[in-house]
Amino acid sequence: MGKLDGRVVIVTGAARGQGEQEARLFTAEGARVVLADVLDDQGEELAKELGQSYVHLDVSREEDWSAAVAAVLRANGRIDGLVGNAGILRFNSLVDTPLEEFMQVVRVNQVGCFLGIKAVAPRMSDGGTIVNTASYTALTGMAAVGAYAATKHAILGLTRVAALELAGRRIRVNAICPGAVDTPMSNPARLDAEADPRETSRALDELYRRLVPLGRIGGPEEVARLALFLTSDDSSYITGQPFVIDGGWLAGVSVL
Ligand code: NAD
Repeated sequence: MGKLDGRVVIVTGAARGQGEQEARLFTAEGARVVLADVLDDQGEELAKELGQSYVHLDVSREEDWSAAVAAVLRANGRIDGLVGNAGILRFNSLVDTPLEEFMQVVRVNQVGCFLGIKAVAPRMSDGGTIVNTASYTALTGMAAVGAYAATKHAILGLTRVAALELAGRRIRVNAICPGAVDTPMSNPARLDAEADPRETSRALDELYRRLVPLGRIGGPEEVARLALFLTSDDSSYITGQPFVIDGGWLAGVSVL
């Protein structure tokens, strides 16, 4: 028995990183997973490997959501879960951030999350689940990622309101707030064929050994286990909440 047997779950940003690990774990737990991304070749290849389906979905485009939801319903007859995982990060101080860059981050992270709820919830089975991917920076500040932190704070607001509005249909809506996780977003060397990602992972480990109480960067498969908890009946009485998964980073600072 898998924890998601018979459930149909859409994972956005599923071609790589945390979304990939969520697609892998949910498949192992018996779900029919629809992998959605803008990286079509990578997403299709992964879906094929997992025996699942892939749909092109730019989360910032309402028409893409309509088409994706229609395609999932045509193929599967139902939608029981959504993991809104797609996201982008840009580094800049607030005063140096061009409006277009700020809006690009808003469109993908914040509008993408809003459109996901708007497009999927009305067609979702009663008792379904939505898991939005926020961040450690949804709960605290971090210099140089102002646009990103603003959108991640907004995702918590959307999550709480959606939880209230959808509770009558027993649809649960929660958010995950990862600290630093070893994916191409925080370890871009993973995208560089010339670089050895194990080397940069070691460098990141060294950085996070000093910053994070548990002394290391997180793994995307650890985040996937939290997404599974919030998508499965194991979390049946939980809705509207942010879940921090950060190795203790947000707990505070140590002066020793
Ligand atoms: P990643 O860059 O490896 O993966 C992001 C995925 O989202 C990619 O497959 C990308 O193609 C996809 N994507 C980007 N724009 C899209 C769009 N418009 N429509 C659809 N898909 C799109 O990074 P990741 O670490 O796996 O990030 C997953 C989520 O976790 C993001 O929301 C990110 O903000 C969040 N997060 C990551 C970290 C970290 O340290 N890696 C920390 C906290 C939160």
